[in-house]
Amino acid sequence: TAHPEPSIISVGKGATAAKFGGGHIGMIAGPCAIESEERLDEIAGAIKAAGATVLRGGAYKPRTSPYSFQGLGDEGLKVLRRVGDKHGLPVVTEAIDPRHVELVAEWSDMIQLGARNMQNFVLLTEVGKTNKPVLLKRGMAATVKDMMMSAEYILSQGNPNVVLCERGVKGFDNACRNMFDVAAVPQVHALSHLPVIVDPSHATGRPELIPPCALAGVAAGADGVHIEVHSCPEEAMSDGPQALLPEQYAELCQQIKKVAEAIGKTI
Ligand code: PEP
Ligand code: MN
Repeated sequence: TAHPEPSIISVGKGATAAKFGGGHIGMIAGPCAIESEERLDEIAGAIKAAGATVLRGGAYKPRTSPYSFQGLGDEGLKVLRRVGDKHGLPVVTEAIDPRHVELVAEWSDMIQLGARNMQNFVLLTEVGKTNKPVLLKRGMAATVKDMMMSAEYILSQGNPNVVLCERGVKGFDNACRNMFDVAAVPQVHALSHLPVIVDPSHATGRPELIPPCALAGVAAGADGVHIEVHSCPEEAMSDGPQALLPEQYAELCQQIKKVAEAIGKTI
């Protein structure tokens, strides 16, 4: 079906703004959780040098177990802002509660809605009332059309700045954390003007599978790549086993640039 020209979503302000869509590939990277200012600073410096354009990090973590690290909370938002500004990187972080949306919108450049909240309609409506770019991740058992309808909840409130994210869906094979559905990328492009990015970190949960899946995503037309990077994965407070080391991320960025150039896109 016919739809408007691809949307280009800008994240951040001025010269360091990152773009997603319409030939622009946004490069989101960072740790799963914000753990300390020193650690985040070290990771941010490395990913910026590698070619990242947006710094990620969770302040409020949606953890499977209530006994796992839940994030630094409000203080984490401020740490993320300071570190992002220091390195010239716009920042994205997750809101898990409608009551946090105002604060997350104030301290970050993009609001992430996680897989577990893709159909939290109260939360979708709340971020729809802001004008911040939103990173909407696919639910772990959601169809592509379900994801599109969740995006509509945001758009219908007046916020047109939505970037979708394929992050894998529940499968039968527990060799991987999830099943990476690369076909979601061209499906979204056929249905919508919205940008769609890939997150091979949560899709596979296995560092050695991240580079090939990232490259497949870009080759399939993804408007961005979201990757978890940690300078010391064995000390990470969440998702350490799936983190790429900064040097692995740097090498992957070089490969992504080559694919992007071959298909006429820019990072
Ligand atoms: C994350 O990005 O750290 C995260 C929790 O991802 P997802 O919502 O896709 O599981
Ligand atoms: Mn994570």
